[in-house]
Amino acid sequence: MGKKIDNWCLVLNKNGLAVNLSKVSKVIKKVQGGRASILDFSTWTKYTMDEWVDRGATSNGCIEAGSRRFDIPEIVICNYYKGTYPVIINCSKPNICKRDGYKCCYCGVKRDLTVDHIVPQCEGGRLTWKNSVCSCQSCNNRKDRMSVDEFCRQIGCEVPKPWNPNAAPWLFKIGYQNDLPECWKPFIR
Ligand SMILES: [Zn+2]
Repeated sequence: MGKKIDNWCLVLNKNGLAVNLSKVSKVIKKVQGGRASILDFSTWTKYTMDEWVDRGATSNGCIEAGSRRFDIPEIVICNYYKGTYPVIINCSKPNICKRDGYKCCYCGVKRDLTVDHIVPQCEGGRLTWKNSVCSCQSCNNRKDRMSVDEFCRQIGCEVPKPWNPNAAPWLFKIGYQNDLPECWKPFIR
């Protein structure tokens, strides 16, 4: 099965509310134990493990187990659990760095991290989810009072689009928002 069982899978509670992310390896055990079902989101069809294996592989992202091939589960729905994810996540400097995967949003380095206010504090920018990104000290100094667009153009990076993790607290667990499975996106509020 290799590394694919290390992928993350979105967990919905019995009511269909997104509540957590869990490793595929763990999710498969839950499904085998009857506590959850794999969800085909396009049809909202629930599958037991046997049914899912019989369904076979429909995409490139599949798991091979012996002679069988089946899709990597991307969403599971709990058969009994109705709890929700405890939040609100506080907007603080450590949480901003966590959200951004502990790397500079401008140059990608992972050391000397601090928090950059996109609109600088001296211009009224505040420490909010949408106005703050994890930045290394060097980029922070170089950006100074420059606009974010100007700075990003200068160093040739994409303009960061910080997000509010309270829109999807379960996603905060993995700390970034790039390359998400399409089927998760409807669950981001
Ligand atoms: Zn940097």
